Amino acid sequence: MLKDLVAEDVSGFVTGLNFAQKVQRSLGLIEQAYNDYGDGLVVANSLGKDSVAVWHLAKRVNPEIRGFIVTTRYKPPETVQFMNEQVAQYPELKVFSSEAEIPDKLYLTAPDQCCDILKVEPTKRAIEEMKVSCWVTGLRCTEGRTRTDFKEVEERDPGLIKLNPILIWHEREVWQYLALYKVSVNPLYGKGYRSLGCLPCTKITLGADERAGRWIGTSKCGGECGIHTRPLKTSLEMKITK
Ligand code: SF4
Repeated sequence: MLKDLVAEDVSGFVTGLNFAQKVQRSLGLIEQAYNDYGDGLVVANSLGKDSVAVWHLAKRVNPEIRGFIVTTRYKPPETVQFMNEQVAQYPELKVFSSEAEIPDKLYLTAPDQCCDILKVEPTKRAIEEMKVSCWVTGLRCTEGRTRTDFKEVEERDPGLIKLNPILIWHEREVWQYLALYKVSVNPLYGKGYRSLGCLPCTKITLGADERAGRWIGTSKCGGECGIHTRPLKTSLEMKITK
């Protein structure tokens, strides 16, 4: 069972395991989760480097593993192009989005609401429509201040397991993996971005925190869109601030 592989505190693994050991651990976690949840195991693919690494790992475990992408009207053209290429290559990647009417530039006045509507709601829909019992993410504990406390396996919503199989990887190890296996990545990394999101909320930054370029100038700076922190199996209140 998946829970038998999970350590309560993985902080020692971040520096205590080498790259090859981390890759084996990640593959083992996905393999066990696939044994436990079968077709209910689905990869959430944000089209960033961490997601494409997890997608590649999952495909090594079983090529039939499905995935979903949540996109928004504000994604950069490079990300949309990359998404179209990925979906053409992997038809088992399903795309979800929201067409809800929202105030102009809600991302400036109420970014949490904007993310709830454009990202969290379609994620909830993906989980429901694809009958997901275990979703797999590319979340890593060294990405930034908001990601230090996550675990490899979580159950924030009863009945919905979240597996974070590369939680203990460093940024460098993700790039190492992608280079070794010649995995295609979003071309925005070539322009200097380190963390990718919607165009108005993502900037190129310097410094230690990978996610420092997200939501600069708002209350959410360096934070989270909500898919890792909000309930995904209960209704979200969608009151829009005008
Ligand atoms: S990242 Fe910005 S534009 Fe995208 S959903 Fe969140 S607040 Fe809106």
